[in-house]
Amino acid sequence: MALQEKKIYHQRGLRQGDPLSPMLFILVMDVLCHIINKAAEQNMLQPLARRALCHRISLYADDVVLFLRPSASDIEITLDILQLFGTASGLTTNLQKSSVLPIQCSEDDKVFLQESLPCQISEFPCKYLGVPLSPHKLTKAQAMSIVERVADRLPSWKADLLTKAGRVILVQYVLTSMLIYILLALELPPSVLKAIDKIRRAFLWKGRKDVKGGHCLLAWPKVTRPVFLGGLGISDLQKLGWALKLRWLWLQKTEPEKAWSFFPIQAQHQVQSFFAMAVKTVIGNGKNTSFWTDGWLLDQSLKQTLPHLYSAVAVRARKRTVFDAITDGRWISDIRGALSVQVLIEYIHLWELLSDVELQPEVEDLHIWKFTASGLYSTKSAYEALFIGATQFDPWERIWKSWAPGKCKFFLWTAAHNRCWTADRLAKRGLNHPPKCPLCDQIEETIDHLLVSCVFTRQFWFIILQQFGLQAAAPQLADICFVDWWGGVSNMLSGQGKKGVNSIIILGAWLIWKHRNCCVFDGETPNVSRVVEAFREEVQLWSVAGARGVSYLLALAPS
Ligand SMILES: [Zn+2]
Repeated sequence: MALQEKKIYHQRGLRQGDPLSPMLFILVMDVLCHIINKAAEQNMLQPLARRALCHRISLYADDVVLFLRPSASDIEITLDILQLFGTASGLTTNLQKSSVLPIQCSEDDKVFLQESLPCQISEFPCKYLGVPLSPHKLTKAQAMSIVERVADRLPSWKADLLTKAGRVILVQYVLTSMLIYILLALELPPSVLKAIDKIRRAFLWKGRKDVKGGHCLLAWPKVTRPVFLGGLGISDLQKLGWALKLRWLWLQKTEPEKAWSFFPIQAQHQVQSFFAMAVKTVIGNGKNTSFWTDGWLLDQSLKQTLPHLYSAVAVRARKRTVFDAITDGRWISDIRGALSVQVLIEYIHLWELLSDVELQPEVEDLHIWKFTASGLYSTKSAYEALFIGATQFDPWERIWKSWAPGKCKFFLWTAAHNRCWTADRLAKRGLNHPPKCPLCDQIEETIDHLLVSCVFTRQFWFIILQQFGLQAAAPQLADICFVDWWGGVSNMLSGQGKKGVNSIIILGAWLIWKHRNCCVFDGETPNVSRVVEAFREEVQLWSVAGARGVSYLLALAPS
């Protein structure tokens, strides 16, 4: 731009959507950015509210945000710049279509803005990049548009034609993913999360927008656990929001040069404590570590380990860095008020701890995220760490990591949670149920009986496992729990053999369930050879479709 070269005429336009056009746009808009920054540098524009706030313009696609002081000269200069830029680039600003959003402006300022700018004065929240932004917490009514956006996705999906496994994918990868961007920026009110959960839950179980409790096989908080904890891996929105919030805290700590890093981050109390616990700091010069609230000296922060002492520290001194606090023993003079015995004990304890600390002026503080091998934050690790303490779901790998169609895995998941509508569960609710197991007509039907200990089933497993030379693994009389028996068989093998047998057991269990349903609902007579026949056909198809473990076992099978 500095050189006066031959003029460039743009003769050929670009089609909309051409991959070149965003590049061109960036090149051109960069100039506007520079002009504005230049004007600020030369003090033509007054500094914004805080000295450190040097970010004056935000550009993305056709959304431009300019931050201005409500002063006559600043407005005049900005309008001149936009005019100049418009003439040079052809990108003229349509002020009628722009709007002014006052932040902490007086009534006089607002009147002045109205008079000096031909724009509309509007109120927060404003929509920027699809996110409703506001300096205040969004009210329920303001956030409702987000709920509507989620609900709007449902009608176009042919829910009736989808299996539940298919719906899980839509819930997680569409309904949940579309919220990540918003959750990254906003803290949604609990009522809004609840409204979104209602939609996700109803779509999963019924393919509709709303549902009654009876249609849900498993409570929603269980469904929204990671798969290794027995859920379906659908994200828990609150925890996901926390995990994403932790990202800001992490970036603030590790990349302090970011334009926003001096802003206080509004994070709930539990998120802040979790962060202190999740990050271990190796102290260098102590300038980027908070003395009281970061975990640098002990596993936890000093605030958590020495709560009495912390509460005796003057409020404004609680934010001191390690460097600040240690220099001239400032942390000692920060302690105020009458000292109780507890405060004194903790004081002496800290004093001893600090006697070993030596700052290294040349070395930056190093922050390590405890939940990844690399020591760097990842949203996945943060999200999963928020479930610490929950019990592992033993068969999760066998179910979810095996080759099998989603609908079969989903069935095994419900079976492992004992959530299939077998007679025992129907009876408990006073519903119509077969008096005895429909396959053997001998004992009351439970899911474990049906899948492992029924005479019919044991015969079935023996025949199909024999096909692979694995008849020794067939259930014995003592095997009364399906999941345990499966675990035992799976552990007998390794590698492809293990994968193969897991797929085979999923298929077998699913076929038994289907046969059971035919007997209950269509009046069929139990017939082992028919199920075996169905198994033999299906197992070939699975092998062709890509179940490599199954192909491996088939190749080994004695002919
Ligand atoms: Zn039976």
